[in-house]
Amino acid sequence: MKKLITLLGFLYLGQLTSSAQNFLGFSEKGTSTEKELEAKFDAQLNAQNLRTWMKYMSSKPHYVGSPHNRANAVYMRDLFKSWGFEARIDTLYTLFPTPKVREVSLVSPTIFKASLVEPMLKEDGTSNQLKDHLPTYNCFSADGDVTAELVYVNFGRPDDYDVLEKMGVNVKGKIVIVRYGGSWRGLKPKLAAEKGAVGCIIYSDPKDDGYGQGDVYPKGPFRPEAGAQRGSVLDLPVAPGDPLTPGYGDTKDAKRLDIKDATTIMTIPVLPISYGDALPLLKALDGRVAPESWRGGLPIAYHVGPGAAKVHLKLQFDFKVEPLFNVIAVMRGSEFPDQWILRGNHHDAWVFGAADPLSGMVAVMEEARAIGELAKTGWKPKRTLVFCAWDGEEPGLLGSTEWAEANRAELQKKAVAYLNSDGNGRGFLSAGGSHTLEKFFNQVSRDVIDPQKISVFMTVYVRIFW
Ligand SMILES: [Zn+2]
Repeated sequence: MKKLITLLGFLYLGQLTSSAQNFLGFSEKGTSTEKELEAKFDAQLNAQNLRTWMKYMSSKPHYVGSPHNRANAVYMRDLFKSWGFEARIDTLYTLFPTPKVREVSLVSPTIFKASLVEPMLKEDGTSNQLKDHLPTYNCFSADGDVTAELVYVNFGRPDDYDVLEKMGVNVKGKIVIVRYGGSWRGLKPKLAAEKGAVGCIIYSDPKDDGYGQGDVYPKGPFRPEAGAQRGSVLDLPVAPGDPLTPGYGDTKDAKRLDIKDATTIMTIPVLPISYGDALPLLKALDGRVAPESWRGGLPIAYHVGPGAAKVHLKLQFDFKVEPLFNVIAVMRGSEFPDQWILRGNHHDAWVFGAADPLSGMVAVMEEARAIGELAKTGWKPKRTLVFCAWDGEEPGLLGSTEWAEANRAELQKKAVAYLNSDGNGRGFLSAGGSHTLEKFFNQVSRDVIDPQKISVFMTVYVRIFW
């Protein structure tokens, strides 16, 4: 392993030292013209703009269907227009379930009712907007009202069920309690259902993102005792997007499936809870002691059950259709207007979304503004630029999927590249995508300087050694 790392290091050093080379696809002269243009672009960038937009856009919860979500879309459309783009809001209509009833109780051997509430914090002035928050839930869970023995299944991955089987434990007819991490959240209830479980509770163990990692909020950034992780459990590996319009756009008049015929909505009830709410449930478990690697950071001996601990889980959702506001801003190409370069980020959030997605979205907006400034000086992009601020990413990539489906024919003819971002944070650069873009991406990253004054390519390089 060490040899491989050293070899990779040399390969990267080789790339670092060849920074004098021309840009991919450019001659020597073209490279220097492009560098001048990039310097002009860089000179436009102004951090204060990002702060201003962030402050407004994250001032209220802005999930699908909320007033501030629509307000943010209008705000962005108008900004894109003011920067010289042809900007519009493309509205689609998606299924977006929100909770009506959420109940989790331990009914045996003792009685405990989970609070399922993230309380206000005096240190956090925004936490008093509780009435405007979506409650903590997993979007696209099934409705359900079940009472059953509880079984702890670790991360709920296939190998965890192999371990349970060796211990003689079966989850058929049981409610499973599973911890976040180790696999994508939607796979946890899916596999539990396949194994015959009738309900699924996902909790955040403090070892994984609470006090096991550092100080909890508000003293530090880690999850406090009453914090639960919202998130989608739509069957994304089968198909992202509105489950009622598989393969085609959910325009106003689109034919929608009956909810009972949708194949990507979870088949059992599933709810996320905090470690404050999980502790009494896990403490009540008996049966075998959990294997060492399954034990989290709570002050108990972790058992797997089943046995004395019985839980009641009741969930009901309002399966309603809500508008999706995708903001589309276009600057026509001067030479190849029918070739589109698309650049996107989502704008919807579960709550305030300052980190995810707005840290990414406001950077995309500043890119667009800087390009608009260049265009005012007479420069024009050769290809058409299409900036996209997507709605409904959090519940299941709804806005982008449905827009791509609604515009399939035109995209197939015109789209030449799509660059997506989600959030920006301090630390290392990471990217994923088409392998053919790797060289291009490496070259670009060498020329981008991070706030600590090294190229972001260096952060990729440093990551290999550290
Ligand atoms: Zn995101």
